[in-house]
Amino acid sequence: MSKQQLALLEELVNLPTAPFVETHVAGFIKTFVAKRKSLTLSSDRFGNLLVRYQPTQKTKLAGRPILFAAHMDHPGFVATKMESKDRVRADFRGWVRMSYFKGTKIQFYSGGRWVPATIEKTIPQKASKATASARSFGADSPPAAVIAKTRAPIDIGSPGMWGLPDATFRNHRIHARVCDDIAGLAGILCMLDAICRKKSRVPTYAFFTRAEEVGFAGALAAVSEKTVPKKTIVVAVECSKALPGVGMGDGPVLRVGDKATIFTPAATAYCQVVADELARKDKSFQYQRKLMDGGTCESTAYCHFGYEATGICLPLANYHNMDESKKKIGPESIDTRDFLNLAKWFVALAESPLTLKYDGSHPGLDKRLNALLKTNRPILARTAAR
Ligand SMILES: [Zn+2]
Repeated sequence: MSKQQLALLEELVNLPTAPFVETHVAGFIKTFVAKRKSLTLSSDRFGNLLVRYQPTQKTKLAGRPILFAAHMDHPGFVATKMESKDRVRADFRGWVRMSYFKGTKIQFYSGGRWVPATIEKTIPQKASKATASARSFGADSPPAAVIAKTRAPIDIGSPGMWGLPDATFRNHRIHARVCDDIAGLAGILCMLDAICRKKSRVPTYAFFTRAEEVGFAGALAAVSEKTVPKKTIVVAVECSKALPGVGMGDGPVLRVGDKATIFTPAATAYCQVVADELARKDKSFQYQRKLMDGGTCESTAYCHFGYEATGICLPLANYHNMDESKKKIGPESIDTRDFLNLAKWFVALAESPLTLKYDGSHPGLDKRLNALLKTNRPILARTAAR
């Protein structure tokens, strides 16, 4: 199973993608769903994709179905104009520090193949636009666009990515042009595949959004129009910059919050209870529980618009392709054991509503605290006078 899951991960992270140009990833998801008869797919008018797993027979649930969400894009380029026969102009979308652009190799996926290019010139953002962008930080703003020298003409609208090779596996790591958030998305597809195979009795949802990297464009459009089913617990899945105290290889991270907010405490506790139960049964499963405040993620958007939401993420090295030790663009990487544990956790979560209640409180906490109170209250009372 894990071999197949890593093969799926590899295939996905090699696809071209950029904000607003998620066609190849969306196409992969459509084919994946079409091959499994318990899955159905619908698209909202913004191009976000909702996948539903429907069990064959109806079962009474103790809890609420889980909706797993991930984004289909990654910071990248989109070709807007051929300035001459070997010069392309391309917008940059997402956040990467300006110092990484000059002279850097990139590539466009045009006409069914990668066409290499080299950045010759960066075009800065207009001041007003820089402050409006959710991911810009003054002088650290990425360029609005670049001019790059190419070997062949590029079709307008083609996605562009950094000029990095296809994914490689080394020492429990996968190194790829993109992990954020395609590895998160791959984890969700692994879960969907597993629950189809084992004929899970619980309805489960997956939601794949567009253009997260420009400021949650897809997720915000979806929640504002209420196209995300409300009766679910939303688990937003990310690859998130590994921070001090977060070990790569120490397991996927239950993300209690991000740079902006703390997520729904009961939803976080629910995922924790499922993880603890899984760890008791499966000694190879481990997870971490952390505040990942290196950036803001879609969970903040879901929570703000009234969803019960939390986050789970994979610790990520070379966040947004910035290799800070070499000061140049490099592949992102995640630990493959973290990825496989992520998929296991998702399967356990998908099936948890069968037995685990969700009532907006921390499952089991009330019982534990009341037992403590019952034990120690009389001792306190008896010893207070002395
Ligand atoms: Zn992301």
